[in-house]
Amino acid sequence: MTDRRQELARNLETQRARIAAACAAAGRDPAGITLVAITKTYPVDDVLRLAGLGVRDIGESRDQEAAAKATAAAAAGADVRWHFVGHLQRNKCRSVVRYADMVHSIDGVLLARELASAADRYREHRLDVLLQISIDGNPARGGAIEGAEDVDREVRAVLDEIVAHPDTLRLRGVMAIAPIRWSPRAAFERLADIGDWIRAEHPDATVVSAGMSADLEAAVAAGATHVRLGSAILGNRVPPAVA
Ligand SMILES: *Cc1c(COP(=O)(O)O)cnc(C)c1O
Repeated sequence: MTDRRQELARNLETQRARIAAACAAAGRDPAGITLVAITKTYPVDDVLRLAGLGVRDIGESRDQEAAAKATAAAAAGADVRWHFVGHLQRNKCRSVVRYADMVHSIDGVLLARELASAADRYREHRLDVLLQISIDGNPARGGAIEGAEDVDREVRAVLDEIVAHPDTLRLRGVMAIAPIRWSPRAAFERLADIGDWIRAEHPDATVVSAGMSADLEAAVAAGATHVRLGSAILGNRVPPAVA
């Protein structure tokens, strides 16, 4: 094993143990948690190493980087599912629908409409999507529902747009990033409540994408089904240079 492969194997083992402990504390089955390894800023070789270590779910947050890695990983024969977790610009929809298996970050009506139209033209199978919720109504960290006075009304509008395209989009659930000033537990419980009312209407919407390296325990306690782990597995990212 190369040093890097060993390092990733060790980190993965630690994070799987962390998930197992969080599940034990919450009385949950670890089989109900999907670990999505967020590989942004790291090379495709790391994606291949992770795939070799049994990771099937890979997440990225920028289209250009993700598209290149998905192409390279497919060429190398890696069998992974690609999760797009970052803010998605409408002009990137055409690209994202070609490689993504699940888009976590649908946060607006126009984005949902554009993604449905791109999926119709550029892919064969329906695209799994999550409605990203802005827990505190502040758009800074992404999520529906920018500038909304009535958050539930905005969530409703995006939801209605997603389910208006049943041939191209499949609503699978909700996603959020815990706001900086909130306790993660309170944020993820609020997300779970929103997930519950959406699932009451749309039984396929079983996914709750919550929890990152710093707050996975709170997410598991609140019912997360998908945790998105970057630095805890790959290492600390070098901050982008300031232009
Ligand atoms: C980068 C990123 C993550 C992973 O963050 P870490 O703190 O490194 O685990 C998770 N979700 C989203 C949306 C991200 O952009």
